[in-house]
Amino acid sequence: GMPKPPPLELAPRRRSRQIRVGDVPVGGDAPVTVQSMTTTVTADVGSTLRQIAELTAAGCQIVRVACPSQDDADALATIARQSPIPVIADIHFQPRYVFAAIAAGCGAVRVNPGNIKQFDDKVAEIARAAADAGVPIRIGVNAGSLDKRLLRKYGRATPEALVESALWECSLFEEHGFRDIKISVKHNDPVVMVSAYRMLAERCDYPLHLGVTEAGPAFQGTIKSAVAFGALLAEGIGDTIRVSLSAPPVEEVKVGLQILEALNLRERGLEIVSCPSCGRAQVDVYKMAEEVTAALDGMNVPLRVAVMGCVVNGPGEAREADLGVASGNGKGQIFVEGRVVRTVAEPQIPETLIEEALKLAKQRGHE
Ligand code: SF4
Repeated sequence: GMPKPPPLELAPRRRSRQIRVGDVPVGGDAPVTVQSMTTTVTADVGSTLRQIAELTAAGCQIVRVACPSQDDADALATIARQSPIPVIADIHFQPRYVFAAIAAGCGAVRVNPGNIKQFDDKVAEIARAAADAGVPIRIGVNAGSLDKRLLRKYGRATPEALVESALWECSLFEEHGFRDIKISVKHNDPVVMVSAYRMLAERCDYPLHLGVTEAGPAFQGTIKSAVAFGALLAEGIGDTIRVSLSAPPVEEVKVGLQILEALNLRERGLEIVSCPSCGRAQVDVYKMAEEVTAALDGMNVPLRVAVMGCVVNGPGEAREADLGVASGNGKGQIFVEGRVVRTVAEPQIPETLIEEALKLAKQRGHE
């Protein structure tokens, strides 16, 4: 067939400086990465590493772990050494854990200026330790823990307040010549969040970590994150993303990857093009799409599979996809790379699609 045209993108990327979180570049021309955060007690090294392995298998590229106690700080060295992806230590309140995280070999350290007391005195030391170790710092401003001074000044966590807090914190590090920084300014309201990141994008060249904080349970959080990240990434803003859900972190990774794939910021993996069904459908489209998705989910191969309910759009979509079915009259025409390869009875449609998908994946050099 025809060579595939390069994927269309919505906007050129904002020009940001590049940092490295462990071996993962963030910012500049590096692909936008997906990160998540463990929910285990960090000091429980076995459980934490197991969860990191699950996240990595799901496609997570950077993982953050909470560090609220000395036991957690003590566990960082083992976790950082054994994790297959860079580990970011998330630190509030305790500057000494920042030093522990740097010494432990973490890929980066996240600090929250609003939450670290007497932080100012410690900045010089932190900047020196981080610079010596080549460890970047994430300045993580959060609406829920905004600096009291800025809360008084603005009355609430406005976009201006979030941005001022972040840039003020950056300036403390800049005074010591430290610029190995990425920034987040999170808010639970996508509209405030988008405004804050737009403003921040204009006012600095640091790479940006996107997040809608406390986005909610899976359904609401997925939509809030997709809308907010979509708006920003469509303007070229954002270098790494974290979807926050009140759900297992693997779900966050799946949502994050799908957002990037939807925007062509990442090669699409399995893509099911299925119709919504309507009064013309001659097969159970939902059931068929679900069966095919379940069988192929996790298959690490870019494959577009069309599952269509009737002959109106069926043959057209099935022909455009790598693989597809156009159903009608109790039968399905199975298309592979644009040609009908066989016609099977309705009950055999899902298994035939799955069989052909696996064949195609193998041909294309994937397992
Ligand atoms: Fe309806 Fe057919 Fe379109 Fe599916 S493909 S939505 S069944 S017209």
